[in-house]
Amino acid sequence: MSKLKPCPFCGSDDVGIHEWEFLDDDTFEHIHCNNCKAQIDDFNVKDKKAIKSWNNRPLESELLNALKLALPHIRCENNEQSSIITICGEAIEKAEQ
Ligand SMILES: [Zn+2]
Repeated sequence: MSKLKPCPFCGSDDVGIHEWEFLDDDTFEHIHCNNCKAQIDDFNVKDKKAIKSWNNRPLESELLNALKLALPHIRCENNEQSSIITICGEAIEKAEQ
């Protein structure tokens, strides 16, 4: 099974797949953030669409690509700029995990 990314709303790593059990013993799984309670419940987790939807971050991907393009062009002329480059590099690393 694919690894779940942190919650897109609060950033918590405390996310998981939970199962609801109905009175007729039918079950339904959904992806849920234990911190802010965000969830995807319109899909069945077993068909992997829910995981793909949970992990889909189109705006983050666009920003990440823009940052990767811009970062090599930022000149490091002082400590403040150097720390900005470090912060951006760490953010890229975290986003690609
Ligand atoms: Zn959350």
